[in-house]
Amino acid sequence: GPRTLREFMEPVHAFGDRPFLIGERTTCTYGEFFAASCALARRFHEEYGLRRGDRVALAMRNHPEWQVAFWATQLAGLVSVPLNAWWTEEELTYALDDCTPRLLLVDGERLPRVDAWRRANGARTIVFHAADAQVPPAVERYEEFGAADPGTAPPAVEVRPEDDSMIMYTSGTTGQPKGAVATQLAMAGAARNPLFYIAAAALAKGAVPGAEPPPVTLMTFPFFHVAAFSSLVLSMAVGGSLVLMRKWDAERALDLIVRHQATGYAGVPTTALQLLDAADRRGGGLETLNSLGTGGAPAPPDLVGRLTARFGEQIVPRNGYGLTETSGGVMAGQGDEYRREPGCVGRPAPAVEARIAGPDGEPLPEGGIGELWLRGQSLMRGYWKNERATADAFRDGWFRTGDLAVMDEGRVTIVDRLKDMVIRGGENVYCAEVEGVLHGHPDVEDAAVFGVPHPQLGEEVAAVVQLRAGAGAGEAELREYAGGRLAAFKVPAHVVFGDVPRNPTGKILKRELRKDFFGLG
Ligand code: ATP
Repeated sequence: GPRTLREFMEPVHAFGDRPFLIGERTTCTYGEFFAASCALARRFHEEYGLRRGDRVALAMRNHPEWQVAFWATQLAGLVSVPLNAWWTEEELTYALDDCTPRLLLVDGERLPRVDAWRRANGARTIVFHAADAQVPPAVERYEEFGAADPGTAPPAVEVRPEDDSMIMYTSGTTGQPKGAVATQLAMAGAARNPLFYIAAAALAKGAVPGAEPPPVTLMTFPFFHVAAFSSLVLSMAVGGSLVLMRKWDAERALDLIVRHQATGYAGVPTTALQLLDAADRRGGGLETLNSLGTGGAPAPPDLVGRLTARFGEQIVPRNGYGLTETSGGVMAGQGDEYRREPGCVGRPAPAVEARIAGPDGEPLPEGGIGELWLRGQSLMRGYWKNERATADAFRDGWFRTGDLAVMDEGRVTIVDRLKDMVIRGGENVYCAEVEGVLHGHPDVEDAAVFGVPHPQLGEEVAAVVQLRAGAGAGEAELREYAGGRLAAFKVPAHVVFGDVPRNPTGKILKRELRKDFFGLG
C-alpha cells in the first residue's frame, strides 16, 4: 500500500471527469481537483520556497478549496495544520502561536480573525472565497480554482514516510487543545483503515467491493476533524462524490440528498438525528440512501433503533470510532452488530491493535470494562512541542484513548469516556448510558449527564435536558422514565432543563454545563 499521502493521492486523477467535491459555491471533478492541487503545490514549493517541515495552517468552512489546499500541502511535502473553523480569534491565535505556520490559507470569514497574527508574524496569506470583501494588499486572493492546466504535475520534491504530514488539534473538550502530529506513514495508514470496514460491509451483503456504482455521500463532518478525512478517503478510493455544506441545516441537507440522489450520509450523531426528524416531518426524502454513518461522539441507541424501524435493511447503519490521535477512524460497528449493540464500534482495522487495559495496564479478559488502548500505523507520533502530554498519552508503546470499553469476540463497544464516568457512592455510572436512555423519551431533543459533588456519596448524577419544541415532560416524569430502564443509583438526582451545547464533532460541552447550571469550576 501507499506509504505517503502523495502516493495515495496520485491515482485519483484517473477518475478524470467524475464529480468529486460538490460544494455550495464551487464544484470540481477529480481531474480538476488533481490539477488545482498540483498547481498550488508548485506555487508553495517554487514561488514561496516552502520546504519539508514548514507548517501551512488552514482555516475555512467546507469548501472544495479546503481539500485543494490540504492536498497541495501534502503534494509539496509540507505539514498541514487544519484549524477549527468555529474558533474565535483568541483560539486561533493560541493554535497559530503553537504551530507557527509560514503560510495561512483562510476563507474570507476567517481572515479578520487571523489578520492580527498575520501582521505580527509576517506570514504569507492566501484568502479563499473573499467575494468583494476588502483584502489587505499583502494578502493574495485565490482565483485560479478550476483554471489549472489538466496536465499539471506535482512539484519535484521527495516526500518520505517518516516526514510529518499533519498537525491536528484535539477538540479541547477536556482541556487545552493539543496538536497531534501524524507522519506521512500514519496518514497513509489512516487513509486505508476505513476501506477495510467498507469492504467488510460489502462482503457481508454478498457484493463485490468496488463493483457498485461510486457512492454519492452527503458529508457534513467539518473538514478540520479527522472523521472528515476518513469519509473523504473512502470516496477518493472508489471515485465517489461528496456533497458538501458550508453550514449545517437539516432541511437543506434533505434537499441536497434528494437533488443529488445521495446514497450515503456521514456526519455526527446529532445531525443524523436532526436529518431523521426532518425526513419524518416531510414524510420522506431518504429513499436513495443505502448507508448512514456517524462518528466522533457516542451515537444515542435511539438513532440505530429509529433507522431500523424506518428503513429495515435499506440502510446499513455505521458507527465509526476514532480520535484525532489516530488520524481518523480506526473501527466501525455496522449492520447487525451495531443494530444489536448500539455502542458497538466493531473490530479494529488490520493495521491497528486494540487492548482493554485494567487499572495497572494489564490486558483484561473478555467482558471486562477497562480503558481502550490502541497501537499501529495510523497513530500519531506525539503531541506538537509537548513532551509531557506525549509521555502521559503512551504506555509501553500503546496509546491510551481515555475511553472505557469492553471487548467481545474482538468487537469493541465504547462504554463512556473515562473522564465522564461518575463514581456515586462507589458505584460506576456511565454517563453515555444514562444519556442514551433519556434520548429514548419522545419529548427529549438532547441530554447531557455528568457528576456533581455530593457530601456523602462523593458524586451524584445530574442531567441537563433539552426538550423538543412544544414538549412538556417535567423532572418527575423523566426521572420515572429513567427509573423504569436503569438501576436506581444511575437515575439522575437532578434534572434541569436547558440547551445542550455541542462542539463541531458532536461532543457535549460538559464543562460549560457544570458551570452554568451548577456553578462548578
Ligand atoms: P480533547 O481531548 O481535547 O477533549 P477530544 O478527545 O474531544 O479532544 P477527538 O479526537 O475529536 O477530540 O475525540 C475523540 C473521542 O471522541 C474519543 O476518545 C471518544 O470519546 C469519542 N468518540 C469518537 N467516536 C465515537 C463513537 N463512535 N462512539 C463513542 N465515542 C466516540
